[in-house]
Amino acid sequence: MTVSSPAPLDTLTLEAEDERQMMAQAGHHTPRRGRLIVFTGPSGVGKGTLLRSLRHRYPALKLSVSATTRSPRPGEVDGQDYFFISRDAFEAMVEQGELLEWAEFAGNLYGTPKASVRQDIEAGHWVILEIELEGARQVRETFPDAMQLFVMPPSLEELESRIRLRGKDADDAIERRLQRALVEIDAASEFDEQIVNDDLEVALQHLERAIFKD
Ligand code: ADP
Ligand code: 5GP
Repeated sequence: MTVSSPAPLDTLTLEAEDERQMMAQAGHHTPRRGRLIVFTGPSGVGKGTLLRSLRHRYPALKLSVSATTRSPRPGEVDGQDYFFISRDAFEAMVEQGELLEWAEFAGNLYGTPKASVRQDIEAGHWVILEIELEGARQVRETFPDAMQLFVMPPSLEELESRIRLRGKDADDAIERRLQRALVEIDAASEFDEQIVNDDLEVALQHLERAIFKD
């Protein structure tokens, strides 16, 4: 195995390609400048699927774990998929100013714990927030430098079929998610990039290009 010599450290600015290679090759290596990336798109469009694949390629990317009042879906793990908490506990977090952003979605509350995101960014990590539209708008106000990406479905029919095939939401929850999807898709142009998740591999490549473009 050949070991390439380290890049000269005579510049403070890492080129995007260096950053990408560093993340791909050294899963535990931390990139030098922290960065916040917002990842939004209608429920069922494939955000979780895309992020799982992305993190498989770039294990150094951090995914923020949100708090929610929603009940766990089959297979979801507390502290890993979400922090599943009561409405009272959520409201206490809001009052204590512990959330970076929060919103109500399809009858449940969702929010990003501030402390862990701040620590990760300060440590130089790239942190992804997978959040809905209202939360993304709040982050745009507080962190105007955050990169904002929106995932689009190839069609509404395909979106509905993905939510149903996932088979983890009750009928009324599916209905509320589809109604909300129309509002979210309408706002897609507010985001820096729109990534259509038709073919998964194509979407993944688009996502990689967007994240590492500068
Ligand atoms: P989200 O996190 O946006 O709610 P998921 O990642 O849970 O969405 O995906 C919803 C469903 O769609 C899952 O069953 C997933 O396997 C499927 N899916 C995701 N991406 C694609 C794709 N490109 N083509 C077909 N099905 C997909
Ligand atoms: P789900 O119930 O399908 O896991 O998530 C529903 C919606 O809530 C998705 O659009 C998801 O991106 C969003 N969401 C998850 N966590 C957060 C969060 O911390 N804040 C906000 N604003 N939305 C979130």
